[in-house]
Amino acid sequence: MLVVRSPLSASMIERKTYYFDNNATTRVAPEVLDAMIPFLRDFWGNPSSAYTFGAQVAKRVEEAREKVAALIGADPREIVFTSCGTESNNAVLQSALATQPGKRHILTTAVEHSAIINHCHWLQKQGVDVTFLPVDADGLLDVHLLDQSIRPDTALVSVMWANNETGVVFPIEEIAAICRSRNVLFHTDATQTPGKLKIDATGVGADFLTLSAHKLHAPKGIGLLYVRRRTKFQPYLMGGHQERGKRGGTENVAGIVAFGRAAELALARTDDENTRVRALRDRLEETLLRAIPNTLRNGAKEPRLPNTTNIAFDFTEAEGILMKLDELGICASSGSACTTGSLNPSHVLTAMGVKHARAKGCVRFSLGCDNTAEEVDYLLAHIPGVIARLREAAPDKPPGAHPAKHPASHAPVYARSV
Ligand code: PLP
Repeated sequence: MLVVRSPLSASMIERKTYYFDNNATTRVAPEVLDAMIPFLRDFWGNPSSAYTFGAQVAKRVEEAREKVAALIGADPREIVFTSCGTESNNAVLQSALATQPGKRHILTTAVEHSAIINHCHWLQKQGVDVTFLPVDADGLLDVHLLDQSIRPDTALVSVMWANNETGVVFPIEEIAAICRSRNVLFHTDATQTPGKLKIDATGVGADFLTLSAHKLHAPKGIGLLYVRRRTKFQPYLMGGHQERGKRGGTENVAGIVAFGRAAELALARTDDENTRVRALRDRLEETLLRAIPNTLRNGAKEPRLPNTTNIAFDFTEAEGILMKLDELGICASSGSACTTGSLNPSHVLTAMGVKHARAKGCVRFSLGCDNTAEEVDYLLAHIPGVIARLREAAPDKPPGAHPAKHPASHAPVYARSV
């Protein structure tokens, strides 16, 4: 259980937080915080400076590079530090087009993170042809269709390693092999993968791979792009010669050092995530599906991240569920976004063919190494009552349910899952 001190209150109100939204972001681990603080307080030199005060910082940047490279089975020279997963994803799309001027087609999927999807929509407006591959009802890709969709002018195939909303894992090794045999560059957005699945970028044969540090217990504002050796790369941020000329901008030293420490911890934690966290997730999912009628899991049971479950609570609206859970100190997220007052279902669930009526009642719970059995018990003790009360007040009811006793309240605005 987390005890969160409100930064908005002079009296620092302490509130118990039951955090089940680790795919959105994660708590900075104490070891990670300890590792980065000296680089904010004492060793704040510029790593590009030639004098010792800068050079000693540059050395620690290189040590961190070795650690993140070890996490993903890469050579340290293949690591480019960026500001976030979004920058890495944008950079690779731009680079693939810039280094292959004759190729104007991107092949990706309909369920990528908005850091790929929205950049592709922008590219379409610039005249780039983009194919968004469909998924089936379980959120799985047809690899044969992917193979068939590669064209002579395909500049890049970009397929996420694991989906942030459902946890469904794509066959990255198989896709990379297809791309290699077709001589097409392959990128995978592995932002949700580290610490949960073993990553071997070299073994898989990806040309590019994205990670974001805040998903693995390091701070926000630091990410990386793996660029396979001898792969042509056009920098997205052009400026100084940092990152071996692949990304301009003075390095976020404290963030990089934190990323390195978090990578070490993630590597050591992968087994725990696959045993203890998986068991917690499975108990949560099985109990919810058994105890609450008219519920189902979105996405294939396997292959799936060990920490993620996405549940449809029919005859409810996720916004209402999340608001009630928030009152209980529970953090989870919905796959839906409400921007200008009209509720848009998640693009991932829509691509899986989930109908609007069901998609608006879906909630993602994503666990992490900090979660305990007691926290899962707390969640399970409260959700059935929350759902029952919301259903009682909802205009649409499960068959055989009694008419509404209370008018439905207006649901608040919640952001799309990240
Ligand atoms: N890709 C995936 C799959 C994600 O889940 C996220 C997180 O929101 C991102 C990319 C973007 O990462 P960042 O928040 O570091 O920009």
